[in-house]
Amino acid sequence: MSVFELMERRGHEQVAFCFDKASGLKAIIAIHDTTLGPALGGCRMWPYSSEEEALIDVLRLSEGMTYKNAVMGLDLGGGKSVIIGDPRRDKSEELFRAFGRFVQSLNGRYITAEDVGTSVEDMGWVRLQTRHVVGLSTSSGDPSPLTAFGVFRGMKACLREVFGSESLQGRRVAVQGVGHVGYHLVRHLVDAGAEVFAADIFEEKVKRVVDEFKVTPVAPDSIYDLDCDVFAPCALGAVINDETLPRLKCRIVAGSANNQLADKERHGDAIHERGILYAPDFVINGGGVINVADEMEPGGYNRERAYARVSTIYDKVAEVINISRREGVPTYKAADLMAEGRIARLGRLKKIYLP
Ligand code: NAD
Repeated sequence: MSVFELMERRGHEQVAFCFDKASGLKAIIAIHDTTLGPALGGCRMWPYSSEEEALIDVLRLSEGMTYKNAVMGLDLGGGKSVIIGDPRRDKSEELFRAFGRFVQSLNGRYITAEDVGTSVEDMGWVRLQTRHVVGLSTSSGDPSPLTAFGVFRGMKACLREVFGSESLQGRRVAVQGVGHVGYHLVRHLVDAGAEVFAADIFEEKVKRVVDEFKVTPVAPDSIYDLDCDVFAPCALGAVINDETLPRLKCRIVAGSANNQLADKERHGDAIHERGILYAPDFVINGGGVINVADEMEPGGYNRERAYARVSTIYDKVAEVINISRREGVPTYKAADLMAEGRIARLGRLKKIYLP
């Protein structure tokens, strides 16, 4: 399939291929949709096995950012970039500065940030060449505590729907992955009186939450079978699949991991039919993007304001549930409708000419 055919399929506006022989930079910047504003999305560094694989990934990820930013109520479109390379071997100051110059050349149509394989330190190099980068160590910093808080708020909206009360007191919650986000989520859950079960493939991570919060450890593979109220995937994507779905005994799936549904439509329909309330990942895990976007406010980043905004993920998840009920569609579809509705409504404003 040609590049233009791929762009047409997902509705992309612009794709920039960036090459710098001296630093070894091979990057692709994809701008999906700028109806709501400049395209914001992180820069992923990954040893892709082919250029085609990198292109498909950046097109998919940038489209996802359009939906996430729209649902989060941000005046931002969707974009993403990928650098083809091994983050353990190929990083250098000149590579990220070369990338920064290409970002600058787009004159603010695309705003970058850290992502898988890149760090806030790498973005410090990018910042030397462009203003269009957020998520710096000197500003909003690590987004994980805010992402976790957003998941906690979204989970409460789900509890209210399923049990008629948003209280976590005595609720059994299984957290899969207690890394950056999972750790902070466990803290919120324990503080709110939940009975928490935690699994991680690294024993020391589980030990940390067991020692600190007195939660119950669970073997990584048994977490799907646990009799619990909420399953919170905070590790990898594709954990809701043909093998795991029949094993789930929970009433709610609400966690931070991206792309939780192995096949969005098939498993999104199946989980709905099983009567499990699924909080769409890009809605409930939007705390991180709200946090970095706050850096663009006049006057700069304000942590209190960022927390207040992340808190509204409760209302956003509640709205997804309302749309799902009203339209008779699974929640993953309701979340898409919510994003598309906002883009369509606000997009119409552009017909009013501004001198
Ligand atoms: P992280 O790498 O710090 O934590 C992930 C944890 O999951 C690690 O401790 C890892 O050992 C564990 N893990 C991996 N495979 C596992 C398995 N099979 N079973 C149990 N545990 C397993 O990552 P993070 O920053 O905490 O992010 C967690 C998820 O949330 C990721 O999917 C990420 O894309 C998503 N997310 C994170 C943020 C953020 O602000 N960090 C924002 C949005 C989405």
